[in-house]
Amino acid sequence: MAGGLRPAGFLRGVKLAMKVTVLTTETQAKPTGFAQFDLPAVLLRAVATAGYSEPKPIQRDAIPPQLAGRDLLGIAQTGSGKTAAFALPILAKLIGLGAKRRPKAAHALVLAPTRELAVQIEEAFRTLAKGAHISTALVLGGVSRSSQVKKIAPGVDVLIATPGRLHDLVQEGDAILSDVKWLVLDEADRMLDMGFIHQVKRLAKATSRDRQTMLFSATMPPEIAELAAGLLKEPVRVEVAPQGTTVAEIDQSVILARVKQKRKLLAEMLADETMRSVMVFARTKHGADRVAKDLARDGFEAAVIHGNKSQNARQAALNGFREGKSRVLVATDIAARGIDVPGISHVINFDLPDEAESYVHRIGRTGRNGASGTAVTLCAPDEAQKLKAVEKVIRRKLPVARDLTGEPDPQPVAGERPHQDRREGRRSDERPQRTRREHGSKADQLRQNRGPAPHGRPAKPQHATRPAAAEAASGEGFAGLPGPARFGQGEPRQGRPAKPDGRPAQGFKGKRWGGRRSRAA
Ligand code: AMP
Repeated sequence: MAGGLRPAGFLRGVKLAMKVTVLTTETQAKPTGFAQFDLPAVLLRAVATAGYSEPKPIQRDAIPPQLAGRDLLGIAQTGSGKTAAFALPILAKLIGLGAKRRPKAAHALVLAPTRELAVQIEEAFRTLAKGAHISTALVLGGVSRSSQVKKIAPGVDVLIATPGRLHDLVQEGDAILSDVKWLVLDEADRMLDMGFIHQVKRLAKATSRDRQTMLFSATMPPEIAELAAGLLKEPVRVEVAPQGTTVAEIDQSVILARVKQKRKLLAEMLADETMRSVMVFARTKHGADRVAKDLARDGFEAAVIHGNKSQNARQAALNGFREGKSRVLVATDIAARGIDVPGISHVINFDLPDEAESYVHRIGRTGRNGASGTAVTLCAPDEAQKLKAVEKVIRRKLPVARDLTGEPDPQPVAGERPHQDRREGRRSDERPQRTRREHGSKADQLRQNRGPAPHGRPAKPQHATRPAAAEAASGEGFAGLPGPARFGQGEPRQGRPAKPDGRPAQGFKGKRWGGRRSRAA
């Protein structure tokens, strides 16, 4: 309890509430900030140390029902403050619990779709549990399994996990979930997209029957509504932004550009120094690599994260971006999901996402904590349907800032060496060599055309006179990107269970839950 008197909220609904409420309002100002919640003093101190003065709307609405023991359905995006909204009530309960930890068991379990999000959640728990003697552990794919097994061997208070690896550990008898009294499914819609839903259901089933369950999702597709109906008991529904709408502070626009124009356009945009911290989204892992490589050739260093990168490489890229060492981070949807980097000024959708709802997640990287943000989407003619789908989800038309489709293609550079694709062993079906020649070394081209650019950035590019119809006639699709991701190459897709490290998910038939050790990590 924060102060000497019980907060009015605690007494609301009891018989003497009227009398006592009058007393508290007359003699003591209603607590504000986090003191309005019935949280242990140690948590209030940690919240203050973290610099949170006022609860965010999701926290204001979601913390009291959770403290009262209710299940919760939270419709909220990353950046809304949802982590503290579930972490604080769980920590409050754990502090009051005083129960002994059993070996390999956890009292609270948070499931998250990506490793990066899981790492962030653990950091938030540690920050908020400062001084409270609460133990946390992370279970993630793509990193050493043995250290995780060791960490949870004595038992932990809060286990934060991606479903694939935890599923393995439970199946192999290295983690026990029957003591889990608090279960959080974070970014449930993304877990669905990534094909984790089956594993999530199995994991939830292995937890305590009388658990309290919190499910957070940015969107509510029918499968998530069904999952919620199966897992939550009479939940309180808290929605911080209407479903499918995007954060009001984000200035959103579209640039219509043919595929071949996108690279140059991106370089042009990044030449603007006011773009302090930029996330560029690509549709596929190969596409992300290609964008980063092209950027490097155009004189812009960019960090890259996607599912084919090792966990360490992803974390290093993310840290570099967070610390401002890299101004640009190129990412795929799944790798970027849930990433919380404060101060991202711009999101550029180099191409449109396959799933319209990913747009909401992408642009939600900017405009955080009330800051302004800008999201620009580059849309090629063959992406028009995807743009329409996005506009349907966000329930509004995106303004077209520029239409370059009638302009000629970027100028090929005379005497330029053929591109290195062959030497790099690129698949011949990914991108015709001709296209690379057309793009050329942008920095050289710009220098030749314009002389050195200020601040070492490329000068405004010029366009050649190739007729716009030529590209359409060539029948070329995504010049800068590979064709549609194939199984095993692209990010995991809906309906195809996959593990975070890209391995195909294990079938359940014939496998005993918690049975013999079936597979080395
Ligand atoms: P989340 O949506 O949980 O990823 O939180 C987004 C960001 O908001 C994180 O950097 C949190 O540290 C921060 N945050 C959460 N709650 C508050 C608060 N009440 N006041 C200020 N910042 C907060």
